[in-house]
Amino acid sequence: MLKRILNLFKTDTDGTSSKVRIIPRDQHKVSRKHISQTALRVIKQLQDAGYEAYLVGGGVRDLLLSNTPKDFDVATNATPEQVKQQFRGARIIGRRFQIVHVRMGREIIEVTTFRGHHNDSETTKNEDGMLLRDNVYGTLETDALRRDFTVNALYYDLRDFSVIDYCNGMKDLEKRRLRIIGDAETRYKEDPVRILRAMRFAAKLGFSIEPSTAKPIRELSPLLLNVSDARLFEELLKLFLSGSATATFTLLREYDLLSILLPGTENALKAGDQLGLSIIEKCMTNTDKRIRSNKTVTPAFLYAALLWPALQAQYKKLSQQLPPALAWTQASQQVIQQQLTRTAIPKRFTLPMREIWDLQQRLPQRSGLRALRSLDHPRFRAAYDFLLMREDAGEDLQGLGQWWTQYQTADDDGRIAMVKDLNKAPGEGKPRSRRPRKPKASAAE
Ligand code: ATP
Ligand code: MG
Repeated sequence: MLKRILNLFKTDTDGTSSKVRIIPRDQHKVSRKHISQTALRVIKQLQDAGYEAYLVGGGVRDLLLSNTPKDFDVATNATPEQVKQQFRGARIIGRRFQIVHVRMGREIIEVTTFRGHHNDSETTKNEDGMLLRDNVYGTLETDALRRDFTVNALYYDLRDFSVIDYCNGMKDLEKRRLRIIGDAETRYKEDPVRILRAMRFAAKLGFSIEPSTAKPIRELSPLLLNVSDARLFEELLKLFLSGSATATFTLLREYDLLSILLPGTENALKAGDQLGLSIIEKCMTNTDKRIRSNKTVTPAFLYAALLWPALQAQYKKLSQQLPPALAWTQASQQVIQQQLTRTAIPKRFTLPMREIWDLQQRLPQRSGLRALRSLDHPRFRAAYDFLLMREDAGEDLQGLGQWWTQYQTADDDGRIAMVKDLNKAPGEGKPRSRRPRKPKASAAE
């Protein structure tokens, strides 16, 4: 089968010999039919203007695996400025690593200029070996060697429909293994986010992580703390929104990365919070299902679950000295503060996340108009789903989820009756039903 694959031997500028394999159109699964028209147009237009342009990255990888690509990336020898001149809807983004977003209709194609070797004066590294600026341009070959994993460094050439493979990516693809290009330690030091990308691709593709790619991860993972908190937030979201959150979460724990990304939660899980673990696992399973059926996932909900064990641990500690409601509020604040030292979480997510948490405290309280007020809360639906997830994970909430399910479908009279019944059923409205009515809600409520 490999007979017709052309093997050309070339010498890298750094002296090492690399083999390029050109896989002709009849020996691979990439077909134009499955490539977005927009990506094809972008490539064609660049070629017509006299530039080289290839499809690269996840698009090629996923098509070779018969998966549906998430997006399409294009690599070219045109500089970002030159790309920008070619397309009306083009925008240069990024500083450390400039890319051009070409927008056509609803689609955005990421166009990158071939990277060069970075032992050049135009690249800047910090003392940990992290690349701070990386805008040295090069050839197709240097570009391949600067990509992260071998399976991400395959190029599709629209001129003859061949796949170009400088890094033995086809073989790794066949063997279903993820291998970093070059020396793993150096590559993680250059960009620690590659550690998280390794987790994401291994989980999403169901690939094994090749031993020398896996080996330095544990030791180098603290370098993730040098990555900007905004980028870490983005990467963390990608990890859990890839459709393989369950596998990702397992891998993150296996490589002890949760202690870096979500330290409060990792501590609680290490201390034995089984229920917290089940809740996160349920959330991951639900998230994967939703992504697969093209439903939206709110990061606030995801974070509410991911930080739930941290919140429980902190609440337990604080509630020994403070009344429950105050302990809950303070625990929420402290857990978020602690998390913000690791990853950013924009306010548009922390606010609804706190509301989901607060409603977990409020949903058991249903007497008088309380149930109705909770139902009217803009975050009720998310909080109700969260409650069901807690029960689903094995938390005994004495039928609270079922009660709320009924309450939502009941008519006004039914609702009044349900609230009245709370006082009759011991255990439901619990201590409150036996307490004499107070004129005002206590702080704990
Ligand atoms: P996805 O399916 O998630 O889009 P992808 O492989 O296309 O996967 P992108 O983040 O879109 O990932 O990046 C496109 C390509 O750019 C990658 O396949 C890889 O070749 C290269 N790349 C991205 N991030 C890095 C990085 N941190 N270091 C080196 N190469 C990278
Ligand atoms: Mg991509």
